[in-house]
Amino acid sequence: MFQLTDRVALVTGASQGIGEAIARALAEAGAKVVLAARNQEKLAAVLAGIEAAGGQALALGMDVADAAQVKAAFQKATERFGRLDILVNNAGITRDGLSMRMKIEDWDAVLSTNLTGAYLCAQQAIPSMLRQRWGRIINISSVVAQMGNPGQVNYVAAKAGLIGLTKSLALELASRHITVNAVAPGFIETEMTQALPEKAVEQLSSRIPLGRLGTPADVAGAVVFLSSEEAGYITGHVLAVNGGMYMA
Ligand code: NAP
Repeated sequence: MFQLTDRVALVTGASQGIGEAIARALAEAGAKVVLAARNQEKLAAVLAGIEAAGGQALALGMDVADAAQVKAAFQKATERFGRLDILVNNAGITRDGLSMRMKIEDWDAVLSTNLTGAYLCAQQAIPSMLRQRWGRIINISSVVAQMGNPGQVNYVAAKAGLIGLTKSLALELASRHITVNAVAPGFIETEMTQALPEKAVEQLSSRIPLGRLGTPADVAGAVVFLSSEEAGYITGHVLAVNGGMYMA
């Protein structure tokens, strides 16, 4: 439905899960997609899948928490495709634990990847978007940024930080027709949530009005929409994709 022909998108954390689904969906909508993550073997498999389906993509190894790697990857992306229209900050990790006992390394790792990483990528994406006077930045936050979650103080702080980053960037960039939005997924079936025991999944599902966990495709659909021309009057928004489990 939404056409992204001639658009160039970069998706972080595209080697699996939600990021992979977002990359595939953007490619299906016609965008050329730069796939970024640390695991190059997994990226190569995603790239092969997109090309087999007739899409165009480029895989780049990149740790979002490393400013030099981020800069180098964005340079390679613009050398290859000449522009960047859409940035999806999706890379994320968890290092859960009760705050009283949380190690500073676990706090730092989650903040660096989930929040600083998004900022570093946005900084590299903005110049191209400013030149074009068109851009879309989409930050993958989480329902827990709005609800809070015991045992995830680092993750929740980073995901709530992303919402603040989204709103401030939206204000800074609106005059250049660059929109900045966040997507806040609920519980989505990926490796990140696979560790949950079956009973916990049952209990969780019963608290979700739509009666099931979400899929990566559910999140990807929201990202394609926010990337589209049709979403051009939406900025600074947090779009919940959570089956109704939390209504902010
Ligand atoms: P996942 O399956 O664990 O995938 C995480 C992705 O992030 C992987 O591609 C990983 O690739 C990449 N990544 C991690 N650290 C990175 C780094 N330093 N640099 C570059 N890439 C990095 O998780 P997911 O469930 O798809 O989650 C995707 C996003 O959605 C995350 O931001 C997560 O917080 C958010 N989210 C997930 C849920 C859920 O229920 N699953 C709910 C709300 C929000 P490499 O390991 O190859 O680098």
